[in-house]
Amino acid sequence: MKSSTLTSFCRSCRSRIIFTERPEIYDIVICPECEEEFEVVGLSPIKLDWPSDFEEYDKEWPDADFDD
Ligand SMILES: [Zn+2]
Repeated sequence: MKSSTLTSFCRSCRSRIIFTERPEIYDIVICPECEEEFEVVGLSPIKLDWPSDFEEYDKEWPDADFDD
């Protein structure tokens, strides 16, 4: 069965992300809602994950975003 709608969901804000054409594994997509970057890790269904350097990034979280 052919699906004409290529969609996935943002891992961060859970918005629906619509692909205009079929992505490939390791493609980088940017959520239009929260502008988070994701990597395509699965194609049927389309699955997104944080880019592989995310864990490293997480350890040294820049404090610039915290507004406390
Ligand atoms: Zn998002």
